[in-house]
Amino acid sequence: IVSIRSVRKSFGALEVLKDVSFDVRKGEVVCIIGPSGSGKSTLIRCINALVPIDQGSILVENQEVNDPALDKLMLRRKVGMVFQQYNLFPHKTALQNVMMAPIQVLKQNKAEVEERARSLLAKVRLTGKENSYPGELSGGQQQRVAIARSLAMRPDIMLFDEVTAALDPETVKEVLVTIRELAEEGMTCILVTHEMKFAREIADHIYFTDRGVIVEHGPPEEFFANAKDERTRAFLGQIL
Ligand code: ATP
Ligand code: MG
Repeated sequence: IVSIRSVRKSFGALEVLKDVSFDVRKGEVVCIIGPSGSGKSTLIRCINALVPIDQGSILVENQEVNDPALDKLMLRRKVGMVFQQYNLFPHKTALQNVMMAPIQVLKQNKAEVEERARSLLAKVRLTGKENSYPGELSGGQQQRVAIARSLAMRPDIMLFDEVTAALDPETVKEVLVTIRELAEEGMTCILVTHEMKFAREIADHIYFTDRGVIVEHGPPEEFFANAKDERTRAFLGQIL
């Protein structure tokens, strides 16, 4: 469903991605881990064309994301993204936040959108919070509203960039549960995460990046049990 080939990206003189390639199949859950500054966020932002690449190719459902003729809005409907900062609209309720894009972008009927928004909030376990404003919700609850908001566009693929990094330890779990349920339903997920235990449990495949290259990758059992590269071992040694 996603095919990344020899991608290179620099910001000025800084080469952030150097020849990165990998594939994600439909329904697969892929976790990207690695030290700060290794290019993880840049890489996943390239997938929905938030960051244009310099070289190589990224196909999403067989369409080149950097094709100037490609409708970026269509792409971002297919590829939902949730960030560390949830960026909800503060003056809109949880329900309104989830309803906005389908009404404004997809021009869907309000009653239908509302029904679906309510069911998405239920899905992320926020029944009863429909009319709360972001400021009245915990970080974990806001993050789940952000996930519901992405799902409202009916994406085929979800990108998660350290979505639990800004949360209190108690609320991390509820967000991870939501992601796990999505993954179990067959959503294709690409996650950047520092939650190694979670990555180990849900990932089909783990990629370790350092300084813009994929140093090592594999299914979690293999990856965690016998990381071969020195950099991977050093990283895992710090974290685990
Ligand atoms: P972290 O774990 O801290 O989130 P990361 O692996 O996600 O790190 P990136 O955010 O992809 O790393 O950044 C990789 C490098 O690219 C960093 O050195 C960063 O400063 C640089 N960088 C990222 N975005 C830009 C930008 N828009 N302009 C210039 N430099 C950038
Ligand atoms: Mg990052």
